[in-house]
Amino acid sequence: MLKPNPTAQDCIAVLAELVKFDTTSRNSNLDLIEFVRAQLDAIGIGSRLTFNEEKTKANLWATIGPDIEGGIVLSGHTDVVPVDGQDWASDPFELTERDGRLFARGTCDMKGFVACALTHAQAMANAELKVPIHYAFSYDEEVGCVGVKGLIKDLQENLPKPLAVIVGEPTSMQIVGAHKGGHSFVTTVRGLDGHSSAPDLGANAIFYAARILNFIEKLRERIKAEGDPTNGFDPYYTTVDCGVIKGGTARNIIPALCEFSWGFRNVPGDDTHAFAQEVFDFIEKEIEPELKAISPECGVSHEEQHYLPAMIPDETSPAETLLRHLTGLNQSGRVAYGTEAAHFQNAGVPGVIFGPGSIKQAHLPDEYIDISQMEACHDFLLKLTDWAATTGKTS
Ligand SMILES: [Zn+2]
Repeated sequence: MLKPNPTAQDCIAVLAELVKFDTTSRNSNLDLIEFVRAQLDAIGIGSRLTFNEEKTKANLWATIGPDIEGGIVLSGHTDVVPVDGQDWASDPFELTERDGRLFARGTCDMKGFVACALTHAQAMANAELKVPIHYAFSYDEEVGCVGVKGLIKDLQENLPKPLAVIVGEPTSMQIVGAHKGGHSFVTTVRGLDGHSSAPDLGANAIFYAARILNFIEKLRERIKAEGDPTNGFDPYYTTVDCGVIKGGTARNIIPALCEFSWGFRNVPGDDTHAFAQEVFDFIEKEIEPELKAISPECGVSHEEQHYLPAMIPDETSPAETLLRHLTGLNQSGRVAYGTEAAHFQNAGVPGVIFGPGSIKQAHLPDEYIDISQMEACHDFLLKLTDWAATTGKTS
């Protein structure tokens, strides 16, 4: 299937295979990983897998070219967001072309990039690369960039250090050099139930949760006021959200339990641990003593849901230098969504986010990628291969 002189049409044919695997994050991605591994195996390229604890999901790492430091990582996640409750005009797991667009779940986010990378494997292998090109295909990105951590650990412990990573999330083939981080929590307020006619005999968990949320909302306003409008992010400040609240059973029962999820999307430099601590301190000082006075069983607890560091901009990093060199682009953007690039950056591998398709189509029904974007990614990979085979230098 992988050809020595692939065309953009070949990349699309591989994409058609990849979207058939329903790799919604709650499912195993092993069928897709086995497919990729078999394709690479057929042309003599070995793969290295790192698994989740249950061994139901895997990351794949493969190297084309010499087994040395200084390689370029092409990083993509294999999981996709659910299609539940979405109205699609065609089967989300069957690639369908309409008006120059390719529709299916994962086309832009981000099997399009993975397909292009994989399609070029044979051509890269034949090019006698001086600079190795690595594939890093992960699981569970859409649930908080969880899977890639195992791959990066393996990379740090066992593999030659790469020079740079290209995370192929959809940026419409523009260079993105920084993104916001994310940090989220579920907070549970345990009150005391009772008949609503006698509120003083219970502790209304919803009212206490409302006071905490009120504090969080004020914190949100303050953080916004402290933001730097010139930092290039949109919006330019760390945002605070609360997306779910649950509690209570009936109006005439004092609710004993209220649970809500909340969190931050932070610009680089803003410390979400410190912000969260302000919330915890408020609860410890203002909320818990009142609850404990009603019953020692009452209280508030927190569970951290996910933490993704922000990606810090570095316009002189080897990753940005290489991308500017290969594309002729001379600026890099900022985005408000998190990516695996931050984990690579924390592990000492600088990166850029650069991939086909638009984030505007990600996660939506009728997700698509423009054929022209697949062509642009195909062209870019030809240039990257040529660079890795010849000069390997950016100046
Ligand atoms: Zn993505």
